[in-house]
Amino acid sequence: MRTLDLGGVRVDRIVEIDPLWVDAFWFYKNIDQAALDRNVAWLGPRLYDPSARMFAISFHSWLVRAGGLNILVDTCNGNHKERPTMHWQHRLKLDTYMRALAAHGLTADDIDVVMCTHLHTDHVGWNTRLEDGRWVPTFKNARHVFSRREYEHHVARQKETPDVPIGHGSFRDSVLPVVEAGLVDFVADDHALFHDLEENVRLEPSHGHTPGHVCVSIEGRRDKALITGDAIHHQIQLREHQLVNVGDFEPEKARATRLSLLNRCCDEHRLMLTCHFVGPTAGYIRRDGDLFDIEHLE
Ligand SMILES: [Zn+2]
Repeated sequence: MRTLDLGGVRVDRIVEIDPLWVDAFWFYKNIDQAALDRNVAWLGPRLYDPSARMFAISFHSWLVRAGGLNILVDTCNGNHKERPTMHWQHRLKLDTYMRALAAHGLTADDIDVVMCTHLHTDHVGWNTRLEDGRWVPTFKNARHVFSRREYEHHVARQKETPDVPIGHGSFRDSVLPVVEAGLVDFVADDHALFHDLEENVRLEPSHGHTPGHVCVSIEGRRDKALITGDAIHHQIQLREHQLVNVGDFEPEKARATRLSLLNRCCDEHRLMLTCHFVGPTAGYIRRDGDLFDIEHLE
């Protein structure tokens, strides 16, 4: 994907894994064959493999450059994490992610702000890296911005079930080390990451997938975009709003949030930047009766 220039704010996609093929019946708890059959033609082989009944998804971050700040939104799976039940993120040794940052002239030390839309394992991974057997912050010069509500939800879950590793272990190995290093700002769900007279980057509450899930609204001098986190996971949900993702905490609320964000992107001609659509990912949303389509950018 080429750099998006919204007017004073630039956005790039930093890819860790694209594509990863996932079982449709694992990914959506309530999917059935009829829903797959209804969508097979328009999805096409790039997004859905009907013989294996698998969806193509991506793991990437969004690099937002505004007001001299390098802001990284979500940090994918990360390397060397112990995830024996999650094969795609178990003990990864990928060089794609840091190479993608380097392609934009950046190293980990150049990141000023790390923002996680929510604290699931595939959105916090690169927060830490393994050094001499310890998890240490990857982006040591960055303030890490977490929704206070989201963090407290995970702390409460950890207290309820102390023997069960929250987030397949990611809360312990990818969230707590940056908290303990004093690098985290716990913020309200409408916190501004950056703003001046004509440009702004701010959080917006979008609860449902998790209790403190936030989106990131980006407004440049010319154009607007919305990083939707996990409010939507795959293109099939543009036309099958009822689908419940394996990670949805409150499915009904997640569905209402998804519809509201899709309508908003449509009405405001706001580019939608999702966290799991395969490349080219970014696109404008069009309404088609009660359903939606996406017109991808190059
Ligand atoms: Zn996710």
